[in-house]
Amino acid sequence: MKFKYVVVGAGLAGITVAERIATQLHERVLIIEKRDHIGGNVYDEYDAAGILVQMYGPHTFHTNDKEVFDYVCQYCDWHEYQHRVLSYVNGNFVPMPISLETINQLYNMNLSEDEMDAFIDSRKVKIDEIKTSEDVVLSQGGKDIYEKFFKYFTIKQWGVDPSQLDKSVISRIPFRKNRDTRYFTDQYQGNPKGGFTKMCQRMLNQPEIKVLLNTDYKEVIDDVEYEKLVYTGPIDYYFDYKLGQLKWRSIKFIFETHDCESYQPVASTRWPMDYEYTRITEFKKLTGQKNDKTTILKEIPCDGEEPFYTFPTAEWKALAQKYRDLAAEEKNVIFLGRLAEYKYYDMDDVIRRALDVFNEMQN
Ligand SMILES: Cc1cc2nc3c(=O)[nH]c(=O)nc-3n(C[C@H](O)[C@H](O)[C@H](O)COP(=O)(O)OP(=O)(O)OC[C@H]3O[C@@H](n4cnc5c(N)ncnc54)[C@H](O)[C@@H]3O)c2cc1C
Repeated sequence: MKFKYVVVGAGLAGITVAERIATQLHERVLIIEKRDHIGGNVYDEYDAAGILVQMYGPHTFHTNDKEVFDYVCQYCDWHEYQHRVLSYVNGNFVPMPISLETINQLYNMNLSEDEMDAFIDSRKVKIDEIKTSEDVVLSQGGKDIYEKFFKYFTIKQWGVDPSQLDKSVISRIPFRKNRDTRYFTDQYQGNPKGGFTKMCQRMLNQPEIKVLLNTDYKEVIDDVEYEKLVYTGPIDYYFDYKLGQLKWRSIKFIFETHDCESYQPVASTRWPMDYEYTRITEFKKLTGQKNDKTTILKEIPCDGEEPFYTFPTAEWKALAQKYRDLAAEEKNVIFLGRLAEYKYYDMDDVIRRALDVFNEMQN
């Protein structure tokens, strides 16, 4: 097989680069994907009840980057949607991130914007040297807010107490002094009509692009002649784990279909104190789909094989940097995306990065 470009991975990073190569350079590009579908972690499909579900966790597109937004608009129409999250605390749902509304509802008060500062100040714990994530929250919001919103949530999310996590993991708690209860405040927000997979299919629908599914690139790469490889798989796997395996946090997904029109008040609820799971997502409320039934997803963070979140401690950042140093020496290979860069990217960030990488490839 002969292709000028080979892309490993059919997630948003790989698909964006392949789309650019096909539509701007009119060169042939082969995408090799080990899963049995395209889309990477934004993959969605219809379940047995006919509800569009996101198989690797809930995704909402949001950005202030107009160029990225215009780029994706070529390939989808939007279900306009403003993401709102409620946190289940002391038996009630309160808005998240913490805003004036959250504080008023939590403590049954009616503070004004001006009064909120004084209230928070009265609760802060004085800490001389901020070293850990626990110190960050205690010094900014006090013990009650720390325990209700952060302590147990962090333990569930990372399997580690915030007192063991560097201050950079929670460097700032977002306190909104106003009544804005949206989760994201970006200018452009929504979800593609018909889903992310449909959007990805349209991006790939170019005669120059060939996609090979169910194939680990190492099985076939020696049989392919190419000039440039864009690699979006795990960076440590590329180097056969020769410096050791990077740590990732994984997620156990539990899907449930319920025989009711609505399961919870908003698309996403957070569970910082009770139960094993951290979030429940109700998909219809993300996508605007109508159905007599509803499907929800409970997420239980865990250690596991499937990599989802980079591990936020110095040890793993240092190992990732060593791999990046090795990657910088590779000729004709570009390392791109969350797995290949060992970096958390939102969807708009990864598309921006892919567009920039494509432009750099021309120089
Ligand atoms: C639970 C969760 C929720 C999220 N929610 C949001 C959100 O609401 N909004 C937002 O903007 N972002 C969200 N994100 C981030 C979003 O998922 C990422 O920005 C995006 O998926 C990154 O795309 P990618 O192409 O870098 O990686 P991926 O989507 O992981 O694509 C990489 C692809 O490479 C393939 N691959 C790996 N190894 C090989 C190999 N050896 N051979 C061949 N193929 C291989 C993988 O199978 C995969 O398909 C969320 C992430 C998580 C984990």
